[in-house]
Amino acid sequence: MGLLSEGSPLSWEETKALADHVREHGVNQFINLYHRLKDRQGDILKWGDEVEYIIVKFDDDQKVARVALRAQDLLAQLNEKELADPNGVKSLWRPEYGAYMIEGTPGKPFGGLMAHFNLVEANMRYRREEVTELLAKDECVMSITNFPRLGAPNFTYPLAQPRPEDPLSSARSLYFPDEAIFPGHPRFKTLTRNIRKRRGEKVSIKLKVFKDTKTKLPVEGAPPGEPDVVLLDAMGFGMGCCCLQLTFQACNITEARRLYDQLAPLCPIMLALTAASPIYRGYLTESDCRWNVISSSVDCRTEEERGLAPLDQQKFKIAKSRYDSIDSYLSPEGAKYNDVPLTYDEKVYKRLVEGGIDHLLAQHVAHLFIRDTVSLFSEKVHQNDNEDTDHFENIQSTNWQTMRFKPPPPNSSIGWRVEFRPCEAQISDFENAAIVCFVVLLTRVILSYQLNFLTPISKVDENMQTAQKRDACRKEKFWFRKSSKTTEQRAAKAQAQAQAQAQAQTNGKATLNGNGLANGNGNGSENGDQEEQQQPLTNGSAKMNGHGNGTTNGTNGSSNGSSNGADSDHTDTDDEENELFQLLSINEIFNGKPNVFPGLVPLIRSYLQSMEVDTDTHCTIEQYLRFIQKRAAGELITTATWMREQVLSHPDYKQDSVVSERINYDLLKRIQGIQEGKQVEPALLGQDYHSKTKTKDFIPPALQKQLAKNGCCEEK
Ligand code: ADP
Ligand code: MG
Ligand code: MG
Ligand code: MG
Ligand code: MG
Repeated sequence: MGLLSEGSPLSWEETKALADHVREHGVNQFINLYHRLKDRQGDILKWGDEVEYIIVKFDDDQKVARVALRAQDLLAQLNEKELADPNGVKSLWRPEYGAYMIEGTPGKPFGGLMAHFNLVEANMRYRREEVTELLAKDECVMSITNFPRLGAPNFTYPLAQPRPEDPLSSARSLYFPDEAIFPGHPRFKTLTRNIRKRRGEKVSIKLKVFKDTKTKLPVEGAPPGEPDVVLLDAMGFGMGCCCLQLTFQACNITEARRLYDQLAPLCPIMLALTAASPIYRGYLTESDCRWNVISSSVDCRTEEERGLAPLDQQKFKIAKSRYDSIDSYLSPEGAKYNDVPLTYDEKVYKRLVEGGIDHLLAQHVAHLFIRDTVSLFSEKVHQNDNEDTDHFENIQSTNWQTMRFKPPPPNSSIGWRVEFRPCEAQISDFENAAIVCFVVLLTRVILSYQLNFLTPISKVDENMQTAQKRDACRKEKFWFRKSSKTTEQRAAKAQAQAQAQAQAQTNGKATLNGNGLANGNGNGSENGDQEEQQQPLTNGSAKMNGHGNGTTNGTNGSSNGSSNGADSDHTDTDDEENELFQLLSINEIFNGKPNVFPGLVPLIRSYLQSMEVDTDTHCTIEQYLRFIQKRAAGELITTATWMREQVLSHPDYKQDSVVSERINYDLLKRIQGIQEGKQVEPALLGQDYHSKTKTKDFIPPALQKQLAKNGCCEEK
């Protein structure tokens, strides 16, 4: 979302009356933009993260922590620099749903150099410091997924009380006051009201309480007949959570479709690995993640659409909320894994196909457009469908799914992109940077090795639910695609090389430099001119793998499955198809399981061995990979598990699932210590954790030279 333009929102009744208007023009706009942009080629890899933050205010006398409703005021200050120098800032700040939330991204996307991995954590640190400079001593900016006592009594500063009976209230929540919704733009309150009105009642978010020995049932506010449910009743409980997102630019639309598909099955896997939100409205729950909460928090489906009443006013029964995991793959290889029937209006689909859109993309867009607009501004009603895309974006941007397929914006130099949206926000910049760099590297490996993670949509859906279970990272198993021999062979080679290298290190011979890792073609010289040999992080079409062009230039609709190196040894018989999918633990998925899957991290290491990587970059990447391997192995625990342990071991905890004001305060204080590097938490970050990039101005020397030479500095 750009700097939000001001405008006048229409009433729900007006908006509702224009639903078909938005649909019709939105679809036309998509058809037009598709034809303008479908042949766009040769965009380079660019990528960037989005981190959402919560502003917390501590009362050190009373030992209470609250969310500070300061976002609007902070954003006014944070955006000043951008307004003065839009292309020169190191960070960009945007509003989010909560009046206590802000979203930060790098000032410019990162590019295709390996050395850019060094910039991520430093930039995240810069952002945190930039906000911190604007805060009072008792305030703190935190990348926590959920504020544990969000919706518990007096959780805001200044104090604000919910007004459930007030017809002018947007949320009408028993717990979440309208003052906690970002006040600086009407979009957020409008969405809140319209979703509630469309649904016909308040949203209803149900979480099972974590039952401890003295948990009192029914839980306060539990729905009738469901005594063990923590009930949340407002959009803010979900949209007021923070997450970590990533966007990648693909070289063309075909590569974007492929990346979208390949990353989709990894969404539940990354959700489980990044689980960070076990506490809601002051209760420990059975869930470790925000996903179902946020999904229910914007579930605008009517009773008819949810299948609770026979269809009468509405056209369809709809299986999921508009916030959920994706429902269909977009690439030809993905087609056969679209095993869940897609709901869409045949007329809309037909219009798209007649407009020249292929089946897979047409059904994707038609499916997005089963949703009605829930936010419309009077200034935007009448548009030129040949140029504008607002009606398309209106529906696209309120389909909040695990992956988003992003067409190039009108009149821009930006290409086709995909957004990876499942991850929960982690406490430290180190963790967030590790996740970001890991996923970016994974996209490179997918494209270079032509990996295939496609898993039937029904199984991905199942994995999404599994991922949210308590301690899923260590305890649950996930449907995962068994890999082919070729992939295994590659990984075996990679492992052998890694072992040889480790051996060499213990002998004191090798240094951790890029040349030493480059398949023996490096010269092992000193650091002097490494940066000259540094390779760009290319797109899949690059020469480095020799077979990338096959997929990137493939025409839509023609299957190129047979040319997929990684999977060409599979036939299509049902039997073998079934055997393709196995239940694996997170540890097995990341670290490998013999004869089944080499592991995501070994695959990345194997890829890196074919690249020239300078010492700094190698160190940076290695510490991230090691961290991810350890968390996947259960050697380090997830943020969610750590938070549970903090609560359960707190002297104030009464075995009743309640996270009291004091427990909340101490937990958040400890988190503050961790993010500032003052609190050591070996269970979370390991014994040897110490960040190399301590200050916001740190740029590794090798990178400085590189940037000076290429003139493509993102950070100066
Ligand atoms: P949204 O909120 O719509 O998902 P944002 O603009 O908040 O999008 O964030 C998008 C992310 O994409 C940012 O990290 C930004 O740096 C990055 N980005 C910007 N331009 C490109 C590009 N051309 N290719 C890839 N990523 C980009
Ligand atoms: Mg954003
Ligand atoms: Mg957003
Ligand atoms: Mg956001
Ligand atoms: Mg985003």
